[in-house]
Amino acid sequence: MSATSLISSVDSRTSEIIPPLLGASVAELSAWVQQQGQPAYRGKQLHEWIYQKGVRSLGDISVFPKQWRAELAEIPIGRSTIHHRAVAPDGTIKYLLQLKDGQIIETVGIPTDKRLTVCVSTQVGCPMACDFCATGKGGYQRNLARYEIVDQVLTVQQDFQQRVSHVVFMGMGEPLLNTENVLAALKSLNQDVGIGQRSLTVSTVGIRDRIRQLAQHHLQITLAVSLHAPNQALREQLIPSARPYPLEDLLAECREYVEITGRRVSFEYVLLAGVNDLPEHALELAKCLRGFQSHVNLIPYNPIAEVDYKRPNRDRIQAFVNILKQQQIAVSVRYSRGLEADAACGQLRINKN
Ligand code: SAH
Repeated sequence: MSATSLISSVDSRTSEIIPPLLGASVAELSAWVQQQGQPAYRGKQLHEWIYQKGVRSLGDISVFPKQWRAELAEIPIGRSTIHHRAVAPDGTIKYLLQLKDGQIIETVGIPTDKRLTVCVSTQVGCPMACDFCATGKGGYQRNLARYEIVDQVLTVQQDFQQRVSHVVFMGMGEPLLNTENVLAALKSLNQDVGIGQRSLTVSTVGIRDRIRQLAQHHLQITLAVSLHAPNQALREQLIPSARPYPLEDLLAECREYVEITGRRVSFEYVLLAGVNDLPEHALELAKCLRGFQSHVNLIPYNPIAEVDYKRPNRDRIQAFVNILKQQQIAVSVRYSRGLEADAACGQLRINKN
């Protein structure tokens, strides 16, 4: 069975919809409108108004009968409100979005050439507490629901008045601690919002067994794994959650992911001067990844207030790149966008200002 038919076979099992409606498929919305005593075709109209027109109140759907609209106005779609918006000089926009319960999350819109990438959050805060990341310093509140993840993409799309081409699950939170809602949001972004699976990336620091479980869904999305160190001792110093989950177990799961999905895995590696950026680290990293369909994304560290790590200079970064290349490892350097708006990788935090 191909990846696409698998995802649509999940779709045909329509579950009962409890509003907020955002994230629901055409089939689910058609079933829902029928429960409301309306003809099934109104489900398709509802779908178009929610996803294409981005309506914020169901009472505003002018093609629906007046009386029904009055009832619908009470039913939540699940849209957030923009609490704050910070524009960086490079055009990246960071949004603080306010959810129904008052919680605030961060979402980033990143325009490049013809692309518009949205970096979405999957949790309010994050429990992983990686030492170099601002999100973990603020603690963890809760998982985001499917509708709260999809909303972030529609919000950025509407604000930029441009179609979102790519979504990276690299905002606040650990996606694989919220797998069910993340999978549901991926499905909706693909089928309802219309973003290709290959343009969807989920980034994880690694939670035991979850990468293997994700592979079973045979998705064509990109999996990015936050590695950050080429050996267990250094990794657990930077990432407390790595202690009970050794690097070799994580890498074994990644290998299974490649075998099962046929997709290569991206590895993210934050470069911290003097900590994990030495030539021997590059060589050790190359050894870990030998014979592995992978790609390494080096992310020069973005400063946060609580810790005094430093970003390596360009020569050091280039030396690291060169060693990986010599070892036949596919590598690129990702200079984060949005630094000036505190919107770059690792700078997102709960902020209620
Ligand atoms: N929890 C997931 C999703 C967050 S993605 C994960 O860890 O993969 C955010 C990416 O930015 C991760 O690779 C993360 O390690 C990286 N990051 C965190 N803090 C950073 C910082 N200060 N500078 C650069 N990158 C950072």
